[in-house]
Amino acid sequence: MTKYVYLFSEADQSMRNLLGGKGANLGQMTKLGMPVPQGFTVSTEACTKYYEDGKRINDNIKAQIEDALHATEKIVGKTFGDNENPFLVSVRSGARASMPGMMDTILNLGLNDEAVEGLAKQTNNPRFAYDSYRRFITMFADVVMEIPKSNFEAIFDAKKEEKGIEEDTELEAEDLKEIVEGFKAKFAELNGKPFPQDPKEQLILAVQAVFRSWDNPRANYYRKINNIPYEWGTAVNVQAMVFGNMGDDSGTGVAFTRNPSTGEKEFYGEYLFNAQGEDVVAGIRTPKPISELEKDNPSIYKQFIEISQKLEKHYKDMQDMEFTIEKGKLYMLQTRNGKRTAQAALKIAIDMVDEGLLTEKEALLKVDPKQLDSLLHPQFDPESLKAAKVIATGLNASPGAATGRAVFTAERAAEMAAQGEPVILVRQETSPEDIEGMAVAAGVLTSRGGMTSHAAVVARGMGTCCVAGAGKVKVNEEAKYFEVDGVKYQEGDFISLDGSTGKIYGEQVKTMDATVSGDFATLMEWADKNRALKVRTNADNPRDAKVAYDFGAEGIGLCRTEHMFFEADRIMAMREMIVSKTEEERAKALAKLLPMQREDFVGLYEAMQGYPVTIRYLDPPLHEFLPNEDEEIAELAKEMGLSFEELKGTVEGLEETNPMLGHRGVRLSITYPEIARMQTRAVIEAAIEVNKKGMKVEPEIMIPLVGEVKELKYIKDIVVEVADSIIKEAGVKLNYSVGTMIEIPRAALLADEIAKEAEFFSFGTNDLTQMTFGFSRDDAGKFLADYYDKKVFNNDPFQHVDEKGVGKLMKMAVEGGRETRKDMKMGICGEHGGDPDSVHFCHDINLSYVSCSPFRVPIARLAAAHANIKNPRK
Ligand code: PEP
Ligand code: MG
Repeated sequence: MTKYVYLFSEADQSMRNLLGGKGANLGQMTKLGMPVPQGFTVSTEACTKYYEDGKRINDNIKAQIEDALHATEKIVGKTFGDNENPFLVSVRSGARASMPGMMDTILNLGLNDEAVEGLAKQTNNPRFAYDSYRRFITMFADVVMEIPKSNFEAIFDAKKEEKGIEEDTELEAEDLKEIVEGFKAKFAELNGKPFPQDPKEQLILAVQAVFRSWDNPRANYYRKINNIPYEWGTAVNVQAMVFGNMGDDSGTGVAFTRNPSTGEKEFYGEYLFNAQGEDVVAGIRTPKPISELEKDNPSIYKQFIEISQKLEKHYKDMQDMEFTIEKGKLYMLQTRNGKRTAQAALKIAIDMVDEGLLTEKEALLKVDPKQLDSLLHPQFDPESLKAAKVIATGLNASPGAATGRAVFTAERAAEMAAQGEPVILVRQETSPEDIEGMAVAAGVLTSRGGMTSHAAVVARGMGTCCVAGAGKVKVNEEAKYFEVDGVKYQEGDFISLDGSTGKIYGEQVKTMDATVSGDFATLMEWADKNRALKVRTNADNPRDAKVAYDFGAEGIGLCRTEHMFFEADRIMAMREMIVSKTEEERAKALAKLLPMQREDFVGLYEAMQGYPVTIRYLDPPLHEFLPNEDEEIAELAKEMGLSFEELKGTVEGLEETNPMLGHRGVRLSITYPEIARMQTRAVIEAAIEVNKKGMKVEPEIMIPLVGEVKELKYIKDIVVEVADSIIKEAGVKLNYSVGTMIEIPRAALLADEIAKEAEFFSFGTNDLTQMTFGFSRDDAGKFLADYYDKKVFNNDPFQHVDEKGVGKLMKMAVEGGRETRKDMKMGICGEHGGDPDSVHFCHDINLSYVSCSPFRVPIARLAAAHANIKNPRK
């Protein structure tokens, strides 16, 4: 029979998956001989079973809870349901990964109308007894019955006002008794039934409510952003109550072994006398700094310091502890590795190595790669943010904090930015033509589009804050305003975006520059020593490449050359190329593009200082370069000396029902090989030019969207012919390679054949995910939200590699490719290349490198080190 319930004395820290962090640590503290009020943990498997059984706790689990309760009664010497000598418990959630504040807690469970009298008599403290009861009713009503706390707070506050007092502690026993009567009446009124008096019924209902809280919207959201699987479930801890509200020799508090904001090695925390835990956490009363405990009660302070130091040494990590003092005796209620800011995380990791507590490898594992993000972008001033009002929420597409004036076109963004005004570009969705506007904007807001939509990808590449797919934001680009819930925001109005949470504010919120301390560099050095994967960047211009180089990129894994053609001075030549009717005309237009493209590549090679640079040939469908609206077509026709009808005809001729499955990638080069010829010339001539200056560039030419080896061979032959003739003519030696992206499932299936022509592979997991699932990468965001709500998916396959399906194709391709070419270089350049979980996967399947946007390079470096420490590569 499955064991679902464990006494603390049966548990230890190794049982985290089964008992959650809190349960496992309570067991461990018990083992370490620390003063822990005893109790038991109902396992995470019981939670899963609860959901499997249609949200009910089955009789077997109920019986195991009862047995554990009896065993605990023996330990504490009290009987549950004994009204003379009441045995009260707390019921608290505790998942495998800590999710602070996401789920629920109930204290003082076991009280009823009789037990409260017993407690009053036994402790000779009716004030304490009724204070405990009123707290219990509030928490039980809130957590179990989902009756909002505000109903009870109103009654409580009314009493305080009636008595003309400020502090809760000034209420007397009689007042609290009256308050309890009021609470019970309110409970019965709102619940339709009186407050349950049977402690066992209270307990089962509470356990059930904690299981249910695993599925509350807060918890679901937290799990989604932290990539915590829904299947894990939460455990429930039932623990004998100790009371911090028994008078002035009692109290409760929270403390950290180091400062969680700065990482300083100082004891940090707060406590309150004559209070219960939620008073501290909920900020109802203003607590005292923990240092004052030393004056108030030196011996307890000393004991607490000793315990906390022992815990920090034991867990080799900064601890976040909850404690209670009951009538002058200290109890430990919880310990866990403390949450901390990124800066604190770095400082603590490095200090602990200096102190000899951690090895470098262990220290690296203590810093969450995702956290580094906050060190790389500007941040909101926490105080101003707290005061600001959220008007809508979208996808947290590119992190950072942006505040600026709303503008609705790229041109306007550029104009205002040139005047020194911070701007936020607000669009229905962005198109490549918006790129310049995006580059000058502090942030980008779109009402449509997913995490790999154009806006999201480009913004991340630039390190520009972006909130995408905010459906509530109705944009009217023509009339230059957007509307949320009937409120209009005009051009020039200040708004703010939090790219890390997706929140949108209708006002100016103060920002602070990101700071990168010396600790950051030290940790990165350690990461580099410990990783097997190389880390490159996706960059299309020297500016981004330079940022990435400074962040430690070891090459460019993807240069999307089309982005180079969208700039104002180039798009015309590109358009001429597209509307050309003859090869001659096309060649003329391409000849205009050649020097610009060559110059781009020189810039990229130079920014990368000899590291490899992978250049991908033109990929998007050509219609993206032409306008769609008649007015714009007419204007362009005039500029190009064409008739409106003629240009309109070209635009319509390029229209496709499914452009993402259409005339793009290698298919363009097959139709127009002269584009590949021009690009090859630019790549090779630029390399020769910089190598003359002493660099040693070996360009990597990458052909996109290949699904069949003959497609690749057709283009490769052209590339090689052009490249070799230029090299020969120049009389130099230049190594270059030609490879392909693996982004079509067929390419993964036939990787062994494709590797006969391809000298390297790079996984384009944006398209590979799109085509493996059949989900449009631009539109899936809309309905994937329903998938998360209905638990069909835990998270977005466009953000984390779907290891089961897409990953299986990747593994096949790695094996197939290396069957043909033993040491074949393989990388990833889809958005997943900067996602820590996906970086782990790439390490595990033996890729050579990951490539990600510049601002994610440090994250990928650390994630690669984590992966190699956990699963060392031979
Ligand atoms: C990809 O498909 O993963 C990729 C990197 O190419 P793009 O996003 O430009 O289609
Ligand atoms: Mg692609």
